[in-house]
Amino acid sequence: MFDYNIEITAENLPQMFGCMVFNDDVMRERLPRDIYKSLHKTIEDGRELDITVANVVANAMRDWAIEHGATHFTHWFQPMTGITAEKHVSFISPYGNGKIIMEFSGKELIRGEPDASSFPSGGLRATFEARGYTSWDPTSYAFIKDDSLCIPTAFCSFGGEVLDKKTPLLRSMDVISAAATRICQIFGYSDVTRVVPTAGAEQEYFLIDRSLYEKRLDLKLCGRTLFGARSPKGQELEDHYYGAIRPRVIEFMQDLNRELWKLGIYAKTEHNESAPAQHELAPIYGIVNAATDHNQLTMEFLKKVAERHNMACLLSEKPFAGISGSGKHNNWSLSTNTGINLFDPGADPSSNKVFLVFLAAVIEAVDEHQDLLRISVASAGNDHRLGSNEAPPSIISVFLGDEITEILECIADGRPYNHLDVCGMDTGVRTLPEVKKDTSDRNRTSPFAFTGNKFEFRMLGSSNSISGPNTILNTIVADVLERYAERLEKADNAEDEFYFLIRDVYKAHSRIIFNGNNYSTEWIEEADRRGLLNLKSTPEALPLIMNKENIRLFTKHRIYTERELRARYEILVDNYIKVVNIEALTMLDISNRQLIPAAMRYTTEAAYGAAQRKAVGISGTSDSSAVMAKNLAVLSDSLYDRTLALDRTINGAKMIKEPIDCAEYYRKSVLPAMEALRKAADELELLTPRDVWPLPSYSELLFSI
Ligand code: ADP
Ligand code: MG
Repeated sequence: MFDYNIEITAENLPQMFGCMVFNDDVMRERLPRDIYKSLHKTIEDGRELDITVANVVANAMRDWAIEHGATHFTHWFQPMTGITAEKHVSFISPYGNGKIIMEFSGKELIRGEPDASSFPSGGLRATFEARGYTSWDPTSYAFIKDDSLCIPTAFCSFGGEVLDKKTPLLRSMDVISAAATRICQIFGYSDVTRVVPTAGAEQEYFLIDRSLYEKRLDLKLCGRTLFGARSPKGQELEDHYYGAIRPRVIEFMQDLNRELWKLGIYAKTEHNESAPAQHELAPIYGIVNAATDHNQLTMEFLKKVAERHNMACLLSEKPFAGISGSGKHNNWSLSTNTGINLFDPGADPSSNKVFLVFLAAVIEAVDEHQDLLRISVASAGNDHRLGSNEAPPSIISVFLGDEITEILECIADGRPYNHLDVCGMDTGVRTLPEVKKDTSDRNRTSPFAFTGNKFEFRMLGSSNSISGPNTILNTIVADVLERYAERLEKADNAEDEFYFLIRDVYKAHSRIIFNGNNYSTEWIEEADRRGLLNLKSTPEALPLIMNKENIRLFTKHRIYTERELRARYEILVDNYIKVVNIEALTMLDISNRQLIPAAMRYTTEAAYGAAQRKAVGISGTSDSSAVMAKNLAVLSDSLYDRTLALDRTINGAKMIKEPIDCAEYYRKSVLPAMEALRKAADELELLTPRDVWPLPSYSELLFSI
């Protein structure tokens, strides 16, 4: 039997990597040749799986899972909650005489019927038909977690409508594969038969001490602090980014890496991020559906392993006011079955036609579908981050760097391209090797940057599933590529047409290219002049999803039917309202039951003290105790008044019928009322002794580890 509890060491890591995954090696080893082959055919051609094949695969999976300590199996899926779902079912089956055998059938592998009624469906699931279906996605490997064999599945309603984040992603992968393959064929890559999108998600997160976390209802219920005065020290010394990692955090990271490696997740780099207590983990990229599964698992294990180390991992986008929030960088590229990265410019990008066509397609797609990219990252949590000085603004633009921009400009103007001088960087130190300067010098402020051989979409919030943004990217780029393919195929001279195409695209869409500082106020004005969208908040962005053009796009490529699209829209609006509502109610709870009582007690104590001092005649000339008591009384009153005001404002939402109007109300009325309450509380916190104020302070939270 495989000893899955064996400790991973530097020496055994290559053998232990992926030991909890039913991957290709395991399948080849454990399945009869013909079954293995026919399973592979299904995976590659996307064909329906034969039940006799499924039975054999299920048997092999069960044996392997039991050897690895699993007693249960579960269909593992990604409903619209944004997290994953599982329902564990044990392998046991009665065998007479009170005995059992361990069973797992092909039918159980292929299909599950979870009750769908408790997952968000946006009206797709009639209440009388609660059934939903999960069906095995053989393109993602099964794995073992918590003694359960987890089978990645897609999730749909009884009527076959999509209820998850996985299905649209898989659909979009097919669409872009077909379109990109067509372009490759036009340019003579006749051996390219499939193109896959690849993704690598850099994940940011905060770690705080568990005992402090437990004392904050806002962190426990909402994942972010709703109260808290600034800490005297924040991140202004810039001493945390890339700083030496603290021992407690190193132990956590090592433990986390081991868990992820066992699951075949390529956890690669880790470092301290810019804010105190903030860190980042980046994996090696993979095919986008596996990368999505892996990022979901990474988020799950970040939380789980943190708990094991007496810490709490915060994945919310803006856990602390005045401190950098957490994002997720979605690195995206296209790779052929022959191993070519289609965004690799090669040694001479100016003559690399395939590269330039794919590049042009991204530029056009991003410009045309700014709204969809913005919507793909829209959430109540991310609204606190986008546009606040540390994250890209809500405006989408593309960074290309000087060299690539110049090449496109030359083609557009019909002038020859003179290679930019890529000189060596002189460090002025003789003993250091000469470093070649990167002409695509990284621009850290761009929301959508070309970074050498991939695009980096940086607007995602840390808790975002990457499936949505990648579904959008695949679909919008495929849509443009299809048009290019038609144009190039029709042309008498594909060579000439190529130049006309690049010229036309550049002229029509160069407004989306911006190589400057995205954080500057000048850019916001400039973007406005260029006519770029600036959708500052989720309620402002969401309605655009139902535009005619978007319905055309999604239905044409069969990513969503119009009904499915509307359901997504409704779910997103509903989620926004619920999240802000929970936050507002949490504030009321904390204020009424913790802050106001503490403020009242302390104010009374101070007033009593002042009166006592006066009575015994020790009040000084400025009578500090009386002034202090008065200040406290004024602030306490304001805390009380604003709590009542927030309560009234929340109640006001009940009168509003249309969900999107309600979301707007939460943004325009409830959020400001929350902000006002917080302001009063934070002022009071600064005047209240540590042992009287009921919530751990920002200094404690941020510098506890
Ligand atoms: P940084 O953005 O911090 O400079 P890197 O350039 O090392 O970091 O890459 C960041 C992420 O991009 C990593 O997760 C990496 O695996 C991923 N990446 C690299 N190449 C590709 C590619 N062709 N497709 C998708 N992701 C990629
Ligand atoms: Mg990055």
